[in-house]
Amino acid sequence: MNDAPKRRLRLSWGGATDQGHVRASNQDAMYADWGLFVVADGMGGHQGGEVAANLAVRTLTKAKPETLNELHEAVHDANKVVHETAVAEPELHGMGTTLTVLALTQQDEGRRFAVINVGDSRVYHYRDNQLIQLTDDHSYVGELMRRGELTQEAAAVHPYRNMLTRAIGVHAEVEVDEWLLDPVAGDRFLLCSDGLTNEIDDDEITEQLSISHDPSTTARELVRLANERGGRDNSTVLVVNVQIDDIDSEDDEDLTEPQDSDKSQVVSMEDESNPEIIDSTDALELPSKRSSSHPKKQRSWLNDRVGISLGAVIISLVLLIAAGAMVATIGWYARDGYHVGVVADQVVIQKGRVGGLLWFDPTLEQWTEIQVAQLNNQDLRRLTSGKQLADLAEAQAFVADLRTRLVDPTSEALGDN
Ligand code: MN
Repeated sequence: MNDAPKRRLRLSWGGATDQGHVRASNQDAMYADWGLFVVADGMGGHQGGEVAANLAVRTLTKAKPETLNELHEAVHDANKVVHETAVAEPELHGMGTTLTVLALTQQDEGRRFAVINVGDSRVYHYRDNQLIQLTDDHSYVGELMRRGELTQEAAAVHPYRNMLTRAIGVHAEVEVDEWLLDPVAGDRFLLCSDGLTNEIDDDEITEQLSISHDPSTTARELVRLANERGGRDNSTVLVVNVQIDDIDSEDDEDLTEPQDSDKSQVVSMEDESNPEIIDSTDALELPSKRSSSHPKKQRSWLNDRVGISLGAVIISLVLLIAAGAMVATIGWYARDGYHVGVVADQVVIQKGRVGGLLWFDPTLEQWTEIQVAQLNNQDLRRLTSGKQLADLAEAQAFVADLRTRLVDPTSEALGDN
């Protein structure tokens, strides 16, 4: 038996997701199990966003990645699956999803957390009442802010604040950001979709993390707050707590059993360098995609099996507060008409008003082959001024006109991050 002190790494987590008050469906997906935590925020009209998010999460989690390499492979596979499905099925054309992952991976030097991100969902790190956003937002306004060309205040109301510059499934290949972190006792991670961060600022997230140490409570409260502020988008929050205990070797057999909290996952760390996972469970199958006629509020991405076998995951579906006829009317008005915009660096035709009216975001109607980098400055300005167009034909004519003036993309790229 090894005499070195053993350490036990324990993760506990809780998540919440909600459709919000405005969106017709919840196109966010999340997954939590076994040191693998995922949030995905789908985009694309009709059922596209929902399909993309669930396909990506399912592809990733089925792979059960254990190393950083396997994790990367799984993310690229997810991109491929979503992209090929989008290309093959006309009604899913143009769909895509964000994908943000926190995973406990096995590295040469021991177990480390890997954070992987594509899109504008986020992973935050919380320690000593300090909240740090680990991920970069791959959004149009995110790029402008990183280049110092847009303030946070201006970004919050920018007509293209929801436009992604990178997403899973949009192109055949995708560039993926990654970070590696050592497990540190007391650390907390928060994964979320932009439905949270568009309503709630970092100070409030920090406050909620400081109020309760319980991951489920924090997740539920943040989603509730996002809805209270308008609930203009689906919001999803997943909180993960890291705990490390020194243990005696004779305690080993206890490792397989949940301890004081039943919402915990126990992983042993022997001598810090060569920990083994003691507990074990089957990979989680996501429920297959449900039909659009399904009533609201009944989707749960984490099935009962996990809830029972681990008692590990709390999903709270905050009840929808009445979205009455007035909202429906505004929704119709907001989605009326077309404009030409940008998604993931690609010029697209969108149905709906620029930036959405009130809180209605436009939905993607058609991709074009034109990349933002191919536009000259004047056309880019025309695009960002968000001219409202009466119908699809007019939008297509607008695009055809753009096509006559394309420039060499290498000279005016939007940014390579
Ligand atoms: Mn969203």
